[in-house]
Amino acid sequence: METARAQAIVKENIKQLRWALQLQDWQISNVCERIEDKSDDSEWGDTAGYCLANPNYRAACITLDADKIDDEADVLAILRHEMLHLFHAELSRVFLAQVKTAVSEREYELLGITFAHCIERIVGRIEYMLDIGLGMQTKAMVRRAKRHLERGK
Ligand SMILES: [Zn+2]
Repeated sequence: METARAQAIVKENIKQLRWALQLQDWQISNVCERIEDKSDDSEWGDTAGYCLANPNYRAACITLDADKIDDEADVLAILRHEMLHLFHAELSRVFLAQVKTAVSEREYELLGITFAHCIERIVGRIEYMLDIGLGMQTKAMVRRAKRHLERGK
């Protein structure tokens, strides 16, 4: 997908997704750029998106790689996935800042892999809950939020 198209989809839908996920207190910026393939890294893999967050300031930057995205549904699914990661931003901050001071470098590396794996499983379960359990695929969430936000005007 073209980068400009991916950015336009994000711009068009991020406000509704912020509301749907109740993340209005977060400032979320978006960057579309190439993300290096880290298939040999068990923590990263070949990802199409990632989210960097600073919970102290409720600020986040979500990066998407348009070359790894096929269509609008993909953009929205990846955007929602990265936004769901904000739910654990404070826990991650504690892990990164405090656990690192309490264990050896090797222990921290192993704990980091386990931590990242568990976090992805949790986010994946939330996605299943939304998509299958509640029938709230990303596009449906956007539509519902759009109706709500338009009523509020
Ligand atoms: Zn993830």
